[in-house]
Amino acid sequence: MSSAPTPSDPTTPIDADEPPAFADLGLRAELLGALAALGYEEPTPIQREAIPPLLAGRDLLGQAATGTGKTAAFALPLLQRMPDERTGGDPVSLVLVPTRELAVQVSEAFHRYGKDLGTRVLPIYGGQPIGRQLRALDLGVDVVVATPGRALDHIARGTLRLGSVATVVLDEADEMLDMGFAEDIEAILEHAPAERQTVLFSATMPARIDGLARQHLTDPVRIQIERERPVAGEAPRVRQSAYIVARAHKPAALGRVLDVESPTAAIVFCRSREEVDRLTETMNGRGYRAEALHGGMSQEQRDRVMGRLRAGTADLLVATDVAARGLDVEQLTHVVNYDVPSAPESYVHRIGRVGRAGREGVAITLAEPREHRMLKTIERVTGQRITIDKIPTVADLRTRRLELTQAALRESLLEDDLEPFRVIVESLSDEFDLMEVALAAVKLAHEATLPGAADEEEIPQVAVRPPREPRPAGYERRGGARPRPGGTTQVFVGLGRRAGVRPQDLVGAITGETRVSGRDIGSIEIADRFSLVEVPYALADEVIRGLRGSTIKGRKATVRRDRDGDAGGERRFDTHDRRDRR
Ligand code: AMP
Repeated sequence: MSSAPTPSDPTTPIDADEPPAFADLGLRAELLGALAALGYEEPTPIQREAIPPLLAGRDLLGQAATGTGKTAAFALPLLQRMPDERTGGDPVSLVLVPTRELAVQVSEAFHRYGKDLGTRVLPIYGGQPIGRQLRALDLGVDVVVATPGRALDHIARGTLRLGSVATVVLDEADEMLDMGFAEDIEAILEHAPAERQTVLFSATMPARIDGLARQHLTDPVRIQIERERPVAGEAPRVRQSAYIVARAHKPAALGRVLDVESPTAAIVFCRSREEVDRLTETMNGRGYRAEALHGGMSQEQRDRVMGRLRAGTADLLVATDVAARGLDVEQLTHVVNYDVPSAPESYVHRIGRVGRAGREGVAITLAEPREHRMLKTIERVTGQRITIDKIPTVADLRTRRLELTQAALRESLLEDDLEPFRVIVESLSDEFDLMEVALAAVKLAHEATLPGAADEEEIPQVAVRPPREPRPAGYERRGGARPRPGGTTQVFVGLGRRAGVRPQDLVGAITGETRVSGRDIGSIEIADRFSLVEVPYALADEVIRGLRGSTIKGRKATVRRDRDGDAGGERRFDTHDRRDRR
């Protein structure tokens, strides 16, 4: 069934050779074992390019956003280069990240990949009781994953000693600079040995990142995953859209989107075997006829699955990229990316499964808020628009289901094979009004064809973070206050310049204590005795809770919504209250 791709076919594999496997990258057995257990079938492009030079000890400057697999790209080589049999002692690797959320995520990734190596990983970030971190540091760690502020605190206390550090990673460096951590990073790097490996990952490469790289990296390998590759030939006729949804709501969102789209047959792409199995089970539990397809299955098993899809006894294929390579199913109408693909090339391959031979197809991507940037990259590289849609509401779903029932009834009316049922209508019409008979029949038909029907709960819409815009020259004020839907408000914090508060202290306290990212925080104004922090309305309560729960410069502050409210409203500062221009 599979058709040989032609040079003009936009779905032609860009790399005709079999892409390298993890084993080809020179990773040791324990790491390969961990990756297999996680169901990773093949390295992502950034991993393919970054792992060999990092294993060789090179410095590296990588442009990669969340969703590309960048964490494993630096974590795997770091783990491999870890000296054997370490007990006690100071860390040999330091990873600096902008937020507590990322510190936890990156630490977890190290744990997962390094579990057979017994690597000791410690996340340290503001907001967490320092005592616990002190004890863990005291016992000895191999890898520290830290936010800059807290790392500097520990360095100052003498509890984090960087004398043995062989590798420093600056992850999401652009975001760290945006959050005002530039000086902290400089100070931290001064404490690390000059003879070390330095790795810098950043989603964007503004001049400041270039400066940071020039100063601290030595002859780095440069990697950019968003190389512009011309997409040959005519673009497939595919309607492309994306939904921004929190991880926890993804299965429900997938169900909702499938219900509204009602595809003839759909393929859902996942990143790993593990996720394929999990999602297949979930979707079957929700009443869909889903089949798994991944690289761990025998050819015979795969053929059986494909047979069921072609015969229409399955309507959903849940697959990894590897398993779906070369697959050509005529019935497919929809491609769903359960995660944003790790590279634009992969996106192009996936959506090329539909829209073939002039048929129309639909490509849907479920992206987590953090992965929004990756969508933009894909748009830029493919030169095609991906519309961000709102997840259908329960009301949308009901409307759509009624439409489907109506369409089915119309078809049935046109088919003209209704005679056998006349007797039922006639006998009921003695007793009931014909309209009522029809209504009851429609209701039965409607209920019988309900797909899924599992969840009738609203799925929360997630606001999309607008991509960062280049700052005008001379822009110094901390913050990236961009207009956003819903508007912003100001939070009053009862500590200011006299308490030694700097913008980064506030940002650190907020991002350390809440799920709010530095990018969500707008302008920060520091007066002598208080500060004002601009945040989106929707996040204000969380910010206030977070700030109340933490200390700033060692002190508890009064925190409340600013009485003067809107950032848009005029704020009158006394003469001594000037904008803080760090
Ligand atoms: P990151 O871009 O580092 O945030 O990674 C994005 C996601 O991709 C994480 O959930 C990883 O667990 C997952 N991931 C990373 N590398 C691979 C791979 N080679 N195969 C499958 N999943 C991966």
